[in-house]
Amino acid sequence: MRFPLAPTAKIARHIVKNKLQGKKKFAMVLQLEPLHTCNLTCTGCGRIREYSTSLKDLVPLDQCLAAAAECDAPMISVCGGEPLIYPKIEELVAGLHQQGRMVYICTNGVFMRKKMREYMAATYSAPMEPVLAQLVAEKLVTEKEAETIRTADAAARQKVVIRPSQWHYWNVHVDGLEYTHDLIVEREGVFKECVLAIRMAKLLGYQVATNTTVYKETDSGELEEMFKFLSSLGVDGHTISPGYDYDAAKKDMVKRLGRDPKEFFLTRDLTRQKFSDIERWGEMFTIFGTPGYLEFLAGKRELACSAWAVPTFNVRGWKAPCYVMTDGHYKSYGEMLDQVNWDKFGVDEKGCGRDARCENCMMHSGFEPTAALSSGLRDSWVNFRYNFGSRPAPFPRTPELEKSAYNGVTIGKGHLAEAKAAVNKELSGAKSAFARGGNDLSQDHGHDHDHAPAAGGGCGSGDTTQRDELLAKIGSPRPIEAKSE
Ligand code: SF4
Repeated sequence: MRFPLAPTAKIARHIVKNKLQGKKKFAMVLQLEPLHTCNLTCTGCGRIREYSTSLKDLVPLDQCLAAAAECDAPMISVCGGEPLIYPKIEELVAGLHQQGRMVYICTNGVFMRKKMREYMAATYSAPMEPVLAQLVAEKLVTEKEAETIRTADAAARQKVVIRPSQWHYWNVHVDGLEYTHDLIVEREGVFKECVLAIRMAKLLGYQVATNTTVYKETDSGELEEMFKFLSSLGVDGHTISPGYDYDAAKKDMVKRLGRDPKEFFLTRDLTRQKFSDIERWGEMFTIFGTPGYLEFLAGKRELACSAWAVPTFNVRGWKAPCYVMTDGHYKSYGEMLDQVNWDKFGVDEKGCGRDARCENCMMHSGFEPTAALSSGLRDSWVNFRYNFGSRPAPFPRTPELEKSAYNGVTIGKGHLAEAKAAVNKELSGAKSAFARGGNDLSQDHGHDHDHAPAAGGGCGSGDTTQRDELLAKIGSPRPIEAKSE
């Protein structure tokens, strides 16, 4: 079957239980943000801007666990910020598993290998040696790191760690092939680190998913190439969602980068164009999502918004009305359900936004649950067939696929290099941090995938100085007025 049986059955039981209890609104996925601190500053991410005054705040572990218990969502998406920075992340994952919940850690991938080395150190014994040797041979772990794993001290062996489990997914953010992804995360070398982390995770038996946001400049052909590449790495499934110009992301685009959000984010019509192939991709790849949501993205049907089914809990409480819009924060999920006028949000029968801010939104966090919770005969049958249908076969790993994937910094075409060139040629403004260019997938550049991420990328260092300096130089930003909608 397409998805593992036990978690699928758990989710089905959750829906049936709540419907039998006559509940009209209940949580399916909790977006748990234990912190908003991040080591990256991705374009399009409003979180680190919206919560800029509370970046150092953390949700205490007991409150995270209490939030999950209160809303009782069977799936917890631990996001942020970068959740692997959260000091109690292992205890959080363990606590959520104890509650019987499926956990997705939405990560930029930069700290994943460190966490997996800690898992190996805590559990090392002779039977692990062949895998460790393979990790070393494939340069996913250094000899020195392997020795540290073998000779782990008592503290390392007693550490709570994140173990492979059918109830756990690493959910790695990947927005395109190397060039595009590094552009969007505004740091060279991140794509390469993500791939190394995914390969290591699969060798260790973890489940790995990826999440991709599609922007106006995203090329559909590149997305298909990306899914083929990720499939060849053994990735278990993919979430894909249109990038949407919600307030915080829009303000950041205007203020920090001097760019018009219309150049970057998708409208509904553009989303449908970009996702016209989504149903075919659903057959080719293990796309996480119901067929109804894929039809919605492809423009074949309308769906109402069910933002209440994917609540967000963070340092300020329960964020309403949804993951992307903030009209307020509530003390409890129940209070939020009761007090928010949910009829004011989403789209009407003609697909027009009931709230102007909803006009272009087709995000999975708002609309996916509507399709999943539909009890219509056709939707139920199609969902059943999709879930229990055979899993798409992985794509074979070929040199051509590798070559097309590593089309950025690895071959000297990173965005920072391009930005520097633009500054040096005094072409300020001619090439933005978002401009695609020189992205020729067909050339053989003879690159070496075993190289460490290129100097200057600083992947994992947490230092954003280089990016900010360059962006400040190349922009000569023209001021754009943020228009209230
Ligand atoms: S449509 Fe729903 S998910 Fe999208 S912005 Fe509006 S309330 Fe939020």
